[in-house]
Amino acid sequence: MTRGMRHFNVVVLGAGGVGKSALTVRFVQDVFLETYDPTIEEAYRRILDVDGVKASLEVLDTAGAEQFTALKEFYIKSGQGFVLVFSLTQEASLREVNNLRQQIYRVKGGDITVPIVVVGTKLDLVAEREVSRSTIQSLVARWGIPFYETSAKRNWHISDVFQGLVKQMLTRHPDD
Ligand code: GDP
Ligand code: MG
Repeated sequence: MTRGMRHFNVVVLGAGGVGKSALTVRFVQDVFLETYDPTIEEAYRRILDVDGVKASLEVLDTAGAEQFTALKEFYIKSGQGFVLVFSLTQEASLREVNNLRQQIYRVKGGDITVPIVVVGTKLDLVAEREVSRSTIQSLVARWGIPFYETSAKRNWHISDVFQGLVKQMLTRHPDD
């Protein structure tokens, strides 16, 4: 039996400058964005094969306008899966991930099974790293959320992020 294409809305959230656009564009177009307008918000589409299931992902790369709470709530309501992004080179950006995580659970009515992955970007900038692996690993273990360290520049572990998220979404929404 051939299974039909599954469609999922994915929302990429995180502080400004952490590499949300670079991550998204590396995933959908396989190029590295050296510079990108930080105010551009764009939805992209890519089909991903996960364990023999074809998933059509609409990936919304958000861009800061969601500081307006109503808009952020709208994104969270419409999203079925979330990529929470911080930069390994900027410890402060990790706090925003925790805020977003709590907002998602709040908007989703306390549903702790909502698919989320946490991503630490700029893994290639070794000398500038501020967040140790043990710090982030103990946090995500407490949160119960999968974590990926990536580099959009070097194309390290980018597709793992979306594969991992799709697996969660397929478990959460087995056949709708
Ligand atoms: P956004 O505001 O979260 O969308 O951040 P951007 O994707 O625009 O990235 C901000 C800056 O960080 C840009 O200059 C990117 O080229 C750079 N950047 C993003 N990801 C990486 C990465 O993996 N490695 C390196 N070295 N730079 C990155
Ligand atoms: Mg951006």
